[in-house]
Amino acid sequence: MDLSIVIPLFNEDESLPELAAWIERVVQENNYSYEIIMVDDGSTDDSWKVIEGLRAVNPNIKGIKFQRNYGKSAALNEGFKAAQGDVIITMDADMQDSPDEIPGLRKMIVEDGFDMVSGWKKKRYDNTLTKNIPSKFFNAAARKSSGIKLHDFNCGLKAYRKKVVKSIEVYGEMHRYIPILAKWAGFRKIGEKVVEHRPRKFGVTKFGWERFVNGFLDLFSIMFVGKFGKRPMHFFGLWGSVVFFTGFVIWAYLFIAKFAFQKYNMTDRPLFYIGVISLVIGVQMFLAGFLGELIARNSSERNTYLIEEKTGL
Ligand code: UDP
Ligand code: MG
Repeated sequence: MDLSIVIPLFNEDESLPELAAWIERVVQENNYSYEIIMVDDGSTDDSWKVIEGLRAVNPNIKGIKFQRNYGKSAALNEGFKAAQGDVIITMDADMQDSPDEIPGLRKMIVEDGFDMVSGWKKKRYDNTLTKNIPSKFFNAAARKSSGIKLHDFNCGLKAYRKKVVKSIEVYGEMHRYIPILAKWAGFRKIGEKVVEHRPRKFGVTKFGWERFVNGFLDLFSIMFVGKFGKRPMHFFGLWGSVVFFTGFVIWAYLFIAKFAFQKYNMTDRPLFYIGVISLVIGVQMFLAGFLGELIARNSSERNTYLIEEKTGL
């Protein structure tokens, strides 16, 4: 199968028929063998009925319905598990992404050798104040911390080589950072393509202002987990040692100063409290590191790695 198109959706019943018809037109023009996987993320409108109706007419359309709303990441993750195509395209259900971009994205994977290609909504049809400006900050932070040169990390329209979607797990709200997940999994050829963006035709956006708060917190998590997730002691041990040692030096100085040079109450010196706090925090960080190691050791993923090739085995 050439192509799997994965569409996460939450209350998008109005858009689906039009979206499906447009995708069908594009894939037929290009003669792709394909499937469209619509993941209904617990919609409370008629989305699921619409999906069943579409499937009755076109068996290439497949559906998964969640028991409740779990979020876009969960929907994508489930779609990725089910996908069978050599190339997987994800797109939003609200018709903000254009299916006409599919052949171009697919070509970059198949012919130009990219592992993953992210869309870039260069000209964007969203509210400037609440989305476009915060999104610039957010992308700059993601770019800087991950080293991946993308302008638009969170674009819903993306293309992947099959191997990529089978090797990453999109959880929480990590759909904003799939390029980073792919990079951690060892896929280096991550490209970008300017894509057409359109105003939302039906319905309303499903993400409010919290997206930016959560987005930033998730960025910290992903950078930390990516770097130290499997060796937490290397982070906590280092900083715990630095802080503990600082406290130790302060105390050594206070003791020497007290007995050798002058007589004073140690508790009269502000430095005394800084020393106490440093010792306590240093020990705490060490303990956090040990606990982290215990958790990492018990994790079923402690030894998951991807083997690219083997020879003689
Ligand atoms: N979506 C989803 N689950 C959610 C929220 C959103 O599957 O909990 C889908 C939504 O139906 C749409 C896509 O994710 O297909 C992008 O959402 P939206 O268009 O609301 O985001 P925006 O374009 O405003 O960033
Ligand atoms: Mg949208």
